[in-house]
Amino acid sequence: MGSFSRLTPFIWPHRRPFILSAIFGLGVALLWGTNLSVAFPVVKVLLQGQSLQQYVGSEAQWTRDEIAKKTVTLQRLPAGKLKDRAHLQGKIVDQTRKLRSLQWIEGKILPHLPSDAFDTMALVLGMLLLGTLFKGAAIFIQDVLVGSVVERSVRGVREACFEHCLALDYQTLARDGSAPLMARFTNDITVMSAGLRLMGGKVVREPLKAATCIAMAFLVNWQLTLLSLLFVPIFGVVFYRYGKALKTASHRMMESMSRIYEALEETFHAMKVIITFNGAERQRRKFRHENREYYDKAMRMVKIDALTNPTTELLGLAAVCIALLPGAYLVLRGTRDIWSIRLSAEVMDVAQLSLLYAFLAGTIDPIRKLSSVYARLKRSAAATDRIFELLDQQPQVTSPELPRQIERHQRSIEFRDVSFRYDGQADDGLEALSKVNLLVEAGEVLALVGGNGSGKSTLVHLLPRLFDPTSGSIRIDGVDIRDLDPFALRQQIGLVTQEPLLFHDSIYENILFGRSEATHDEVLEAARRAQVTEFVEQFPEGFETNIGEKGGRLSGGQRQRVTLARAILKDPSILVLDEATSAIDATSEEKIHEVLREFVKGRTVMMITHSLSPGVLDLVTRIVVMDSGRIVATGTHDQLLQTCPPYRQSYYARIHVDLDAA
Ligand code: ADP
Ligand code: MG
Repeated sequence: MGSFSRLTPFIWPHRRPFILSAIFGLGVALLWGTNLSVAFPVVKVLLQGQSLQQYVGSEAQWTRDEIAKKTVTLQRLPAGKLKDRAHLQGKIVDQTRKLRSLQWIEGKILPHLPSDAFDTMALVLGMLLLGTLFKGAAIFIQDVLVGSVVERSVRGVREACFEHCLALDYQTLARDGSAPLMARFTNDITVMSAGLRLMGGKVVREPLKAATCIAMAFLVNWQLTLLSLLFVPIFGVVFYRYGKALKTASHRMMESMSRIYEALEETFHAMKVIITFNGAERQRRKFRHENREYYDKAMRMVKIDALTNPTTELLGLAAVCIALLPGAYLVLRGTRDIWSIRLSAEVMDVAQLSLLYAFLAGTIDPIRKLSSVYARLKRSAAATDRIFELLDQQPQVTSPELPRQIERHQRSIEFRDVSFRYDGQADDGLEALSKVNLLVEAGEVLALVGGNGSGKSTLVHLLPRLFDPTSGSIRIDGVDIRDLDPFALRQQIGLVTQEPLLFHDSIYENILFGRSEATHDEVLEAARRAQVTEFVEQFPEGFETNIGEKGGRLSGGQRQRVTLARAILKDPSILVLDEATSAIDATSEEKIHEVLREFVKGRTVMMITHSLSPGVLDLVTRIVVMDSGRIVATGTHDQLLQTCPPYRQSYYARIHVDLDAA
């Protein structure tokens, strides 16, 4: 199982309980074999009416006779036949040893055992019950030990995945959206851990059980056992075939589950739109479709899975028959060879044949169990692959080996020949940014304007290294930002986006996120400056008010002021506002401009905006006009009105809209 081997680093720390669990597995296997050997005394006592004492007595007598016979033969052998003499001597030694142990049993054990046939039966059954009890206890302990190892290892995997996600760059994470990631953290990890539990439990125990039985069957009659082992390669081929089909099927199944997550996320995220646009039917159809797809994939898995069990049973029985048929011939005809091939050292009796049958049949059961866990193991392996696919992703934004230090930014931000293309964008198509050159002096308040998709957001997202330019460089105070420690770089930057991204927590905690080591007073001061305090006072719980998921309990303007307070608390040297006021009403916008007037002092500000209202024009020192990933003009408002026709057009169009509205 190649997929699982990559989990070794996660399991290794918990190896001790794991090894202990394997030892209990071995105990289970031995008890399984011992329990099966009950077949022998049962047949002896029930079918042949012998008590154990009689049996041992006759065995001992037979051995004694054999030794006597062989000793005579040995004496008659000519002294020259060294090889034959040695062979005979060896046999005599073996049988003497056997005789000695039989005598030991006769002397020490048999006196304590019942001599009556029925009492013997009762004792045997009692022992069987006891053996099964011990076996059950060992299975319990093994499963609990394995469970604890698996759960601890999976905890490690989950944490590693989460940390890896946090260390990945924004673009890689955002590429597929959050649903596939969520699917990995929930469905895939659950499937993987189920497989691991089997790996430590049944996958250790059942083969050991099978091996014990085969070893014991060998002791009874190795020739016949060997005959059934001819089936092992056939088992191998069948399992290999099934395995491949199962893995493909389970990969498809998990991809399908991922799409169900997507449908769910989309639906719950856009609930408002779905309700008002009467879009429920569309979502229902989509979900039904994905659910149906999943069903089809799952059914394929179920079918392959369902096939394995009867197949193994059939093959297993065939393997037993191929040994039992000649065995029955030997017993019933009272011979030792078939077609002059020696198949048994001594003439077998029914009890021995039953024992052989019990052991061989005892091999089928573990194999059948193994085959039924096979599908789940393959599913689990596929899930493990998917999890490592995530863990194998390399961040595209990396930190330098020896980061350079910079002071608080005080001179300039420079974009030099910056081009950028998103992962998905066609190579020959338009770039999101192409050869952008821009020098921003410290303390400037820059407004970035331009149509939708002109590359404004992309440009500012390069600053905190949400992604790196495809070519060109960005320098802060003359230092390439790729040479800085990303953490130190981001400490200098405050970002406020159009969609206020808030956490499901109290207002206080949301502001504190700006700088987690800030004091209580600093948080309150930031809140006051961002005019958060005035609306917080209306809530009975004040700053402790929970703002709901994504800040759903606040109005748009209030949310935006909380994000501003967060940025203010951070006290960044560079402030980036990406359409921070686009989504809110004019009154709130006025409030925010008021806040900003204070806040922009002593900072370099890049402000993406649609509305060049007097409030904004009052703030900005320079305007940059962008179009199709390029900077088409820069200058003050008055200069641009003169020199840049597109700017003039859009400015007056906007004024008209404002007048119409008023
Ligand atoms: P603006 O903020 O000026 O409206 P953006 O910087 O968001 O524009 O987008 C610039 C261009 O990059 C657009 O053509 C847009 O389609 C493309 N783009 C933006 N984000 C992505 C993304 N995650 N993947 C691929 N293309 C993107
Ligand atoms: Mg944008």
